Amino acid sequence: MTAALQLSMLGVGHAFAVAPEAAPPRLVRPTQVHGSRVIDAADCEAETEADAIVSVPGSIPVGIVTADCIPVLARTEGGTVVAIHAGWRGLALGVIEAGIQALADTAPGEAISAGIGPCAGPCCYEVDSPVLDALEDWHAGALSTAVRPSRPGHQWLDLPRLALAALSRAGVTSQSIGGVPEGCTVCHPAFESVRRDGAGAGRMLHWISPGEPKTKQYC
Ligand SMILES: [Zn+2]
Repeated sequence: MTAALQLSMLGVGHAFAVAPEAAPPRLVRPTQVHGSRVIDAADCEAETEADAIVSVPGSIPVGIVTADCIPVLARTEGGTVVAIHAGWRGLALGVIEAGIQALADTAPGEAISAGIGPCAGPCCYEVDSPVLDALEDWHAGALSTAVRPSRPGHQWLDLPRLALAALSRAGVTSQSIGGVPEGCTVCHPAFESVRRDGAGAGRMLHWISPGEPKTKQYC
């Protein structure tokens, strides 16, 4: 795996799609379970189950791993950060909205920037009716524009489009959302992909480091 993508708009230390061994020192990541629970880095132990993790300025880097699911890294202007893992199950449970809400609750009133990393693209992500039914409740507005027909009972699903809609619903403005251009993990051999290589595929780490704590100014 040779990727290691960055988005200048995020401004703090981060990388999409690196080998898990390339994690920065002290990084923590939860045990991912395709849910919508968000935890704070300070509460994260090896077995802690969650799919989004927040870290405040001056604290430690956080990350999540994927191989076709959507990685979202986001920060507030004051340097509080979140790493979110969202597959179709997480999307159906609102994990992106939950992660962004946790950022907003931790650093109220601060503008938020978010980046969507490489995931399975609409060229390669075919889903069946039960998946679409699960997504229908949460994503009713965006789902019709995020699918196109494939075989009977199946559709090609545009995961990044749903992620974009979720970020926008969570209050992140479109100018503050970025994405990596070479997006589809299944098409591009630089990425790990379960759809392409099966369950034994490797995993890609996406991490983000919080900003420095604000120091008080005395005059
Ligand atoms: Zn593709």
